[in-house]
Amino acid sequence: MATNRTFTMLKPDAVEKGHIGAILEKISASGFKIVAMKLTQMTKHDAQTFYAIHSERPFFGELVEYMTRGPIVAAILEKENAVDDFRTLIGATNPADAADGTIRKLFANSISENAIHGSDSDENAAIEGAFHFSGREIF
Ligand code: UDP
Ligand code: MG
Repeated sequence: MATNRTFTMLKPDAVEKGHIGAILEKISASGFKIVAMKLTQMTKHDAQTFYAIHSERPFFGELVEYMTRGPIVAAILEKENAVDDFRTLIGATNPADAADGTIRKLFANSISENAIHGSDSDENAAIEGAFHFSGREIF
């Protein structure tokens, strides 16, 4: 089912470096409306569940450590063609490969600590949004 919503997390490195405001400004300026948002911290179990698809990858342990080491900002965003347009806005997984002007090019240091998450499909946007938010938190 195609929707006009996607899910994002401003990851611990971005929050630690004080980039919440700058990144949200860029998201808003790019036409995304925030329909749910919170500052939260993932537990180890949360991160293992959220990234379960990567559980066999060599970087899984480090990914869980990284994603749980401090607060994140979780948000559901709305825009026409939200999933694809947001992946374009954040740029490639490895900031070294990310296009100029993308959020990862501007704010990420490495392929592992890459500042921001964006859902990769409408189906995952719905699953990931529901992982972090329940009905009355979503406008
Ligand atoms: N990641 C990593 N090493 C890698 C690939 C990915 O540490 O070689 C981390 C990185 O934080 C990335 C996350 O695992 O954002 C999920 O990986 P995925 O391939 O799904 O990238 P994304 O969809 O976030 O661009
Ligand atoms: Mg992914």
